[in-house]
Amino acid sequence: MKLTNFIETGKFYKSNFHAHSTRSDGRLTQEEAINVFKENGYNFLCLSEHNIVTKTDKYNTEDFQLVPGLELHSLLEHPLTIHHMLGLTSMDNDKVYDGMRLDNIPFTNNEESLLNLEKTLTDMDLLTVYCHPTWSHVEPFQYDFLKKTNIVEVCNWGTIYEQSHNNDPVYWDTWLKQGKQIWGMANDDSHKREHYCGGWNMVKCAEFTVPSMLDSLRRGSFYSTMGPEIYDFYIEDGIGYVKCSPAKSITFITMSNWGKCFRDSSANLTEASLNLPFNAYMTRVEIEDKDGKIAWSNPIMRMDRFEHR
Ligand SMILES: [Zn+2]
Ligand SMILES: [Zn+2]
Repeated sequence: MKLTNFIETGKFYKSNFHAHSTRSDGRLTQEEAINVFKENGYNFLCLSEHNIVTKTDKYNTEDFQLVPGLELHSLLEHPLTIHHMLGLTSMDNDKVYDGMRLDNIPFTNNEESLLNLEKTLTDMDLLTVYCHPTWSHVEPFQYDFLKKTNIVEVCNWGTIYEQSHNNDPVYWDTWLKQGKQIWGMANDDSHKREHYCGGWNMVKCAEFTVPSMLDSLRRGSFYSTMGPEIYDFYIEDGIGYVKCSPAKSITFITMSNWGKCFRDSSANLTEASLNLPFNAYMTRVEIEDKDGKIAWSNPIMRMDRFEHR
C-alpha cells in the first residue's frame, strides 16, 4: 500500500501565507509587496496584516491569487512571550470582509487566552496556523494543546534573517512526538525588503483556486522550502522514498527510531529510500542543497505503530 500526503493529480503552486505591508507594520505597500511576489513566481499570497483582514480579488491574475486572511495575537503575562496565529480563508467567506479589524486576545491565563485566539479565528471559518515558536520564545507545552490547529511554521524567514537561527523544526518534532498529525509550513513573515522570498510552500492542488489550495493545506498536500524541491515523498511496503532536486543530503527523520542521512559531497543526490523501522510512526524528510538551504516534507503518520514506540 502506498502512503503519501500529496494528492494524486494536480500541480504544485508556490505560496507564501505570511506577509505584512504598510497596512500594518510592513515597509512596502500592499501593491509593492504583491509585485515582489508576482515577480518571483508566487501563485498564492496572503497579506496577513496584524489585526486587519485583507480580502480582495483585485490583484488576481491567471496565475496569481490573493488568499484572504490576517495575523492575530493573544497576549501573555511576560511581554516577550506571545502567541501569534494566521487565519486563512477564501473570498466566499461572508464572515470576514476587507479592512475588518480584530483586537488582540487579552491575557487571562495561557491556555484560556490561546484557545480564545484559536476560537476567534475558527469561529470565522479561518484555517489556523501557529506562527514562529522560535521568535515567540514559547515552550511547546504552552501551545501543544491546541484543538483545531495542525499547522505550525517550521521556517519563518523573517526570524531566520533577523536572528540567524531556526529552532522551529525542533518545536515541530516535539509536537509530532505526541502522535499528532501536524503539518510544517514555511513563510516569509516579510516586513522589510530583506524578508522577502526566503521561505515558501509548494502546495499540490487539484485546481488553481483558493478553496482547492486550502483543502490541500488541510490534507498536508504540500512541502515547505527555502529552495530545494521535493518531487515526491511516499511510503510503500514499509520503504520510504523521496525524489528531489540535487541535494548534498537527504535525511529521513523517524519516530520513534533514529532515521538516516544520505550524503553526497558533490551535492548531486536526487533520490533516496530507506527501509523504515516497524515502529516509525512518523516519517518526514529534510533536503539540504549545496548552499545549505532546506526543504521539509510533511510527516507521513502511521498511527497503528504509535503503541509500539
Ligand atoms: Zn507574528
Ligand atoms: Zn507576522
